Amino acid sequence: MKRIVAAAFAVSLLAPASAFAVGPVDPSAAAPHFEYSGDEGPFWWGEIDPIYADCSVSLRQSPIDIPREVSARTRTNLAVTFAPGAINMKNNGHTVVQSFSPGSTFVLEGVTYDLLQFHLHTTSEHTVQGRRYPMELHAVFRDAVSGNLAVIGQLFEVDRRGTENEFLHDLTQFGLPEKTDDTVTNAAEIDLADLIDAKQLATYWSYPGSLTTPPCSPIVSWFVLRKPVRASQAQIQEFIDVMGNNYRPVQPLNGRTIERK
Ligand SMILES: [Zn+2]
Repeated sequence: MKRIVAAAFAVSLLAPASAFAVGPVDPSAAAPHFEYSGDEGPFWWGEIDPIYADCSVSLRQSPIDIPREVSARTRTNLAVTFAPGAINMKNNGHTVVQSFSPGSTFVLEGVTYDLLQFHLHTTSEHTVQGRRYPMELHAVFRDAVSGNLAVIGQLFEVDRRGTENEFLHDLTQFGLPEKTDDTVTNAAEIDLADLIDAKQLATYWSYPGSLTTPPCSPIVSWFVLRKPVRASQAQIQEFIDVMGNNYRPVQPLNGRTIERK
């Protein structure tokens, strides 16, 4: 019963196009349009509408370039538990979003964040010492009480031998939602633990940041995993074909502390 109440609360928080709305989670029809290039591109997001002002005025924006020297070390292990979920993908016009029912959690400083969805960017949004990866997955967790988010970023690199990534194989076995508002659903289950296992979670960079899409709300604790995972060029190309370039350029660090484990 508790879980149902919490889920309903989370949904009600997601509905309005408020400062807490998350673009890829549930884009409201009322949310002002944005693009990844041209006069509605990332450099102009903050000017499109007053509710997007954080995109240009906030000093803790994402993504960032992760420098060689980071500010601090941490020993904190990430308390993430993934549960399998049915394939439930949607093309929202900016990215492909796989939504989850409650059941996967990230406990951070005693607060439980629930996995809402993951989505993908081609190329990566975070760069590492200037290096850009071909794809990045964002697993978005939310604290239903505060509305704050914790996002795990998983970088992809191309496997030169052409070996397929099994998780992406499972995810795309019935195809991808190719056009805006297309969906792909199936009872077949996928499990993020197949991609992001304990070994992946063992080393990461973390820093305080924002949504990387309008309204760019500075409410995200970021955890970018230090180990990239591999996928075949063909698998990554499938996402490029559907999403095109959907990455925001890196943003100024503005003195923020980056922790490394
Ligand atoms: Zn993202």
